[in-house]
Amino acid sequence: MSDYNWCHNPSCHEIETQSRVRGTGDNKVLRTIKIKVGRYNYNNDNTPNIYDYFCNQNCLHQFLQKFCVEIANTYSVKQPSETPIKVKTEKYESYRYRWSGNEHIREPYQATRKIIENKA
Ligand SMILES: [Zn+2]
Repeated sequence: MSDYNWCHNPSCHEIETQSRVRGTGDNKVLRTIKIKVGRYNYNNDNTPNIYDYFCNQNCLHQFLQKFCVEIANTYSVKQPSETPIKVKTEKYESYRYRWSGNEHIREPYQATRKIIENKA
């Protein structure tokens, strides 16, 4: 792997910032941002990071917006996935408010909630 990537947003070079200006004299251009690979890898391992490929969130989201259909087709989801869990149902006292005609009256009631205890 090379030490640098060019930002993968195809429109990166069209965004007007001083950091993109290159060239001399009358031959100035806006250039795609060059990214140092691993710039946010604080653990110094080889974990890939999305910001090794995009200079910032704006470029990442412009890329996702432009290629969302291709990405969805490449990594398509045809059915839902499921994670096995254990669930405990718990009763607890909650409150609801009823309008009496001139004020809200707080009334207790027995409610239930599901607690996900752990993955099976
Ligand atoms: Zn960019």
